[in-house]
Amino acid sequence: MRSIASRMSVMSGEGALSVFARAKELEAQGRSIIHLELGEPDFHPGQSVIDSASRALAEGKDRYCNVIGVPALRQELSAYLARTRSINVSPDNIVLAPGCKIALFLAMMALLEPGDEVLYPDPGFPGYPSITLGLGAVPVPFELSARNQFQPDIEEIAAKITPRTRMLLTNSPGNPTGTVYTDEVQRALAELAVKHDLWVLSDEIYARIIYGGEYLSMLRYPGMAERTLIIDGFSKSFAMTGWRLGYTVAPPEVVPALALMSVNTYTCVAEFTQYAAIDALRDREGNTPRMVAEFSRRREQFVRDLNRIPGFCCASPEGAFYAWVEISGTGLSAEELCRILLEEAGVACIPGAAFGPFGKDFIRFSFASSATTLQEAVERIAKASAAWQGTVAVR
Ligand code: PLP
Repeated sequence: MRSIASRMSVMSGEGALSVFARAKELEAQGRSIIHLELGEPDFHPGQSVIDSASRALAEGKDRYCNVIGVPALRQELSAYLARTRSINVSPDNIVLAPGCKIALFLAMMALLEPGDEVLYPDPGFPGYPSITLGLGAVPVPFELSARNQFQPDIEEIAAKITPRTRMLLTNSPGNPTGTVYTDEVQRALAELAVKHDLWVLSDEIYARIIYGGEYLSMLRYPGMAERTLIIDGFSKSFAMTGWRLGYTVAPPEVVPALALMSVNTYTCVAEFTQYAAIDALRDREGNTPRMVAEFSRRREQFVRDLNRIPGFCCASPEGAFYAWVEISGTGLSAEELCRILLEEAGVACIPGAAFGPFGKDFIRFSFASSATTLQEAVERIAKASAAWQGTVAVR
């Protein structure tokens, strides 16, 4: 009998993409919608990156190429990681992929057996539990709670480790909370990983988007080199979402497995985009720091304005570009609130449960939109708040 494989019924979609689809429908009906649902910078790569892509195409760099990425880009990534993250990584330990999502998927496929347990942050990127389930492994959430400033709770994680635990997934700065894990927390996570001999999958896609301090990669902690895979890419730090460029930094014995995954799936990443990526990493025009400085200004304005909305409570994120707003004070569910905001106010945002059950009293806005757009969004939300003002809990 013909049927869809059962693994498909355990995987899930992404809240952001379904809200985006509905928002597009409303726009097609002529409604004005402010899109604050997607995690996509409103910037584009600098002219030198675009010129370099055109030049590479003109030079015929549009062929099948090295399955783990062209050597020149892996060399440049090694220098970039040393410069921006103080980690020494050989170019031989870097594997390119068409985006971070596929890098995550294939790394997990290479390392997990069915039944293995994977510790992951909740609220967190929806792909973590979905991919885990799709591979027949068992997702085990650890809570990022407001009580703990959205930092992982080491005691909770330690208590959840069993003989089947195989992997610890970390994401700092985190989507959706914007938390940058403290040095103390990361050190303790590293100690747990060593003690229980776990793989650590460190999703560092927002590493460059932090609002102060030095970024601390999980790879810097004792005992991490042989067990840590870093996932990173060009979507967020270089505003190159549609270019589909990501990479994994892996211990030497994992690289052949990732190369085999590449051979069996995407073969190689588009050659000309890899040459353009070299220019993005060199960033002679200073595009990334300029973008982050702009996000920082918007963060201050947007978080301050959101906290003036009755029933909203939002801590200032330390990284990434999301406002994670506690909304239980409105007396409405996050789903109902998002529905009102989209259908009535024309502001698209995401109910927190899309990032896991512990996100249920929150909504997420992306502030990767211009300051004027964000201001208009807040004005629309303030107007719509009449719908719940009567029910606002007294703080
Ligand atoms: N990891 C996290 C935490 C993300 O927020 C995202 C995208 O939103 C990804 C991975 C996927 O990124 P990419 O566009 O490179 O596939």
